[in-house]
Amino acid sequence: MAQADSKKDLHADQDPNKINLGIGAYRDNDGKPWILPVVKKVKQNLLTDPTLNHEYLAIDGLRTFTDASAKMILGADSRAIKEKRFLGVQQISGTGAVLKKGATVYISDPTWGNHFQIFGDAGFTVKTYKYWNPATLYYCLKTADSGSIFVLHACAHNPTGVDPTQEQWKQIAAIIKEKNHFPFFDCAYQGFASGSLDKDAWAVRYFVDAGFEIFVAQSYSKNFGIYSERCGCLTVVTSTEQQAINVRSQLCRLNRASISNPPAYGARIVNAEDNLRTMANRIIKMREETVRHLTDLKTPGNWSHITSQIGMFSYTGLTVAQVKVIKEKFHVYMTDNGRISMAGLNENNVRRFAEAVDYVVR
Ligand code: PMP
Repeated sequence: MAQADSKKDLHADQDPNKINLGIGAYRDNDGKPWILPVVKKVKQNLLTDPTLNHEYLAIDGLRTFTDASAKMILGADSRAIKEKRFLGVQQISGTGAVLKKGATVYISDPTWGNHFQIFGDAGFTVKTYKYWNPATLYYCLKTADSGSIFVLHACAHNPTGVDPTQEQWKQIAAIIKEKNHFPFFDCAYQGFASGSLDKDAWAVRYFVDAGFEIFVAQSYSKNFGIYSERCGCLTVVTSTEQQAINVRSQLCRLNRASISNPPAYGARIVNAEDNLRTMANRIIKMREETVRHLTDLKTPGNWSHITSQIGMFSYTGLTVAQVKVIKEKFHVYMTDNGRISMAGLNENNVRRFAEAVDYVVR
């Protein structure tokens, strides 16, 4: 109610210099909402992609998106992923009501206000744990009923903006294990705390490495700036592959009853961005590999521009005559001005390309 009143006041306030510090969304330096360039680009591609339509998604969502979500939070080389001890179910953004009813859920004091409603409406007993002071936080963890669910902010704690240190996370994990509590991570700001998706996933990955089963509610509202597209994923790590199959089927039942089918648009945006990242990483790798092979071949000249240039193309500096020889002798084709598309290189042909370059510049 108080929040609704203050919103009314904000809109009614005619002062041209008013400052809105209550908004939970990113604004640019001019105070304007910002559509991330990558999201804009993906949206344009989606408009012209002939394979897309408005059919229902599966009940557990777009599988490429939920797999990408798991990779993003757990790490691409996560053991849980390799061992298929994980699953992802698409959600309407933030935290879903998905755990065993009757359990007690502990949320931090203070926390994002909606946690009370989300878990309360889902039929849980909701209690709070003291957050600010690590000593009282540990005390609350120790004195809570064994087997309680603890909602932990994965990073960028809302509203305090204070995260536990790595040492404190280790302590939290130790007590959670000792008390047989269940860790439920709420991850609404991955990438916002440190600027790195990996660094911000440290606590979650620590718990997984320590052998915990966990739930992670991932929201893409903030880090993709797609608040109203309602895009999120519940990623679960289990102990066995069979458990992952069973949990997926239970979560599908819950999704079916609560939302029937998840929305596609935001998931397609995040999914495509993951593809973009995959592409970008591969191109960077091919730049490095090209230079590595040229160095290995002791090819005359300085080739550092290949790794310092960014994007899809590289100006090799080869002459028209050299390009011609490469084409005729090695069947490697590029534009006459020596521009190559890095995307045409791969692990199988990069050595051959380097050998061709080596041959023509000697
Ligand atoms: N958890 C926390 C801690 C949040 O701050 C928010 C957004 N304010 C959310 C979850 C979920 O937001 P959304 O439902 O838009 O993803």
